[in-house]
Amino acid sequence: MIINAAVAISPDKPFQLRKFELEEPREDEVLVKIVASGICHTDIAVKEQSVHLPLPMILGHEGSGIVEDIGKNVTGLEIGDHVILTSDSCGLCKKCEQKLPSYCKEFVERNLSGKRIDGTSPVLDAIDSGIGGRFVGQSSFASHSLVSQRSAIKIDKSHPLRLMGPLGCGLMTGVGTVFHALEASSGNSIAIFGAGTVGLSSVMGSALRDCDPIIVVDPIKERREIALNLGATHALDPKTENVAEQIIDISKGGVDFSVEASGVPAAVNMSLKCLGRPGWSAQVGATPAQTYHSLDMDHIGFGRGIKGVVMGDAYAKEFVPHLASLHREGKLPFEKFVKEYKFDEINTAVHESQQGSVIKPILIM
Ligand SMILES: [Zn+2]
Ligand SMILES: [Zn+2]
Repeated sequence: MIINAAVAISPDKPFQLRKFELEEPREDEVLVKIVASGICHTDIAVKEQSVHLPLPMILGHEGSGIVEDIGKNVTGLEIGDHVILTSDSCGLCKKCEQKLPSYCKEFVERNLSGKRIDGTSPVLDAIDSGIGGRFVGQSSFASHSLVSQRSAIKIDKSHPLRLMGPLGCGLMTGVGTVFHALEASSGNSIAIFGAGTVGLSSVMGSALRDCDPIIVVDPIKERREIALNLGATHALDPKTENVAEQIIDISKGGVDFSVEASGVPAAVNMSLKCLGRPGWSAQVGATPAQTYHSLDMDHIGFGRGIKGVVMGDAYAKEFVPHLASLHREGKLPFEKFVKEYKFDEINTAVHESQQGSVIKPILIM
């Protein structure tokens, strides 16, 4: 079938909306009519090539939509189902069996190459046969996506489908990091660097876990205000002096946990420096390639640690419907920082997101 999709070609060119040929579903694949797709910082980082993945590629990895066709071996999904798209995994390796699909042994090949595991792309292009059409399992900046059945998570039809796409990446990462990677609980102190979608989701997750204090660090005043509105107890401007010391003061000796969600190299150091004893720092921000840090091992020695977290250590098949329920109960009001755009306004949406005036742009297909 012919689809409309936005393709990233090079850092200096805007996304181009073009028509492509999409293959028929294979035995284990699902054709999804995309209703909406969030734009995530990682999409922009790949287009700008600060994260080096092969272009040209159809990006987008926060898609929500309706199942339009299924392969003959697909189970648990029917035509007409509402689905949230998420990353792909093999379903067979040890990590997949342990419900940790983001550490699947084939995660990189299945999600970051833009191709299926056999090296083919579901999207064909008469001009350029090498186009990537399976970014993070989906390439959702498109009218339709052809995905592995493990990437399509069914949700109840009562949820507002056009809003739900970010549950598959930004919300899952932010809330999941607090719930699963850090296992924060009542009374834990936490500092969160970056008040974008992931950071604000960590704020909401921390509030759900009754953490106190919840300290947010972001240079943009409006974002700090939103964070306070979503449950942060303190909001600091990193441009002021001694932010780590301020956090240590507020938390009376250093925080139990920190989340680095800004991708700013200087914030990585701060997220370690502000830890108490013991304390864990989760790194979820996409720092530029080849970023190196020196660590003060005396500091780390006091029961402190740093861990990289992908997709919030979540098992999407269970966690995404859970997030949707939390949203319905009013406990995850992320619509407060969403702005909708028409699909052909994608370059405006990217620009406004980069300027910081919009936190979560959602393209309506
Ligand atoms: Zn993302
Ligand atoms: Zn696997």
